[in-house]
This record gives sequence, C-alpha cells and structure tokens, in this order.
Amino acid sequence: MENCIFCKIAAGEIPSTKVYEDDQVLAFRDLEPQAPVHILIIPKKHYASILDIPCDATSPLPAMAAAAQKIAQEQGIAQSGFRLVINTGKDGGQSVPHLHMHLLGGREFGWPAG
Ligand code: AMP
Repeated sequence: MENCIFCKIAAGEIPSTKVYEDDQVLAFRDLEPQAPVHILIIPKKHYASILDIPCDATSPLPAMAAAAQKIAQEQGIAQSGFRLVINTGKDGGQSVPHLHMHLLGGREFGWPAG
C-alpha cells in the first residue's frame, strides 16, 4: 500500500534489520527497542490491523506465529519466555497502520501492561 512504512520495508524500499523472512512474513528489529529482544513480525501483504484480516485458511496469523516460534528459538528466548503483542487502534497504542506483532524478550515483564 502506498505511503505505508511497513509495506516499504517489506518491499526493501526502506532499510530494516531483518531477522527472518519467508514468502508471507518479514521480521525485523524495532527501531526503539523496549526490551533486549524486540522484533516486529509483519505480513508482507498489507492489512491495516487485526480487524482487517481474514479468519480462514488465508489468515496471515499462522505464518506470523510460526515466525515467532522460529525467531524465539533463534534468539535464545524460547525457554526463558517472551511476550507477543498486537496493538490495535488508538486505545491499543497502534502507531503504524500495518498489522504487526511485537516479539519482546530478554527481560521479565509485569502484568497488567501499563
Ligand atoms: P505500534 O505502536 O504497535 O504501532 O508499533 C509500531 C512500532 O514500529 C514501534 O515500536 C516503532 O518503534 C516501530 N517502528 C516504526 N518505524 C520503524 C522502522 N522504520 N523500523 C523499525 N521499527 C519501526
């Protein structure tokens, strides 16, 4: 989608620190990390938020979950634990309107999130 920063990252038009890629998904390090490991997992196809995805066999979520599993193993945080976050809309704190999953790890997180 035009003027979407994450679409431009997926297309290689804007640089990113890539940690994982397959045909459906790209994962790269967050510019402003909130934890020792902070990686964004995005579908290459544009969806503004989780409200816009299909919930059938064409859903991007299984590929995103599979990427999270692989990345957590590769980053050495699968055993210690990690957090997956999908911010949605204004109250959810979503600032980039392209579906993305935050994978956060390498430290302990409190609950509820502030
Ligand atoms: P959210 O607030 O859930 O929409 O998260 C958007 C995230 O994207 C924030 O954590 C930003 O730091 C991150 N971000 C924005 N632009 C970039 C970029 N060009 N490369 C990497 N991360 C980015």
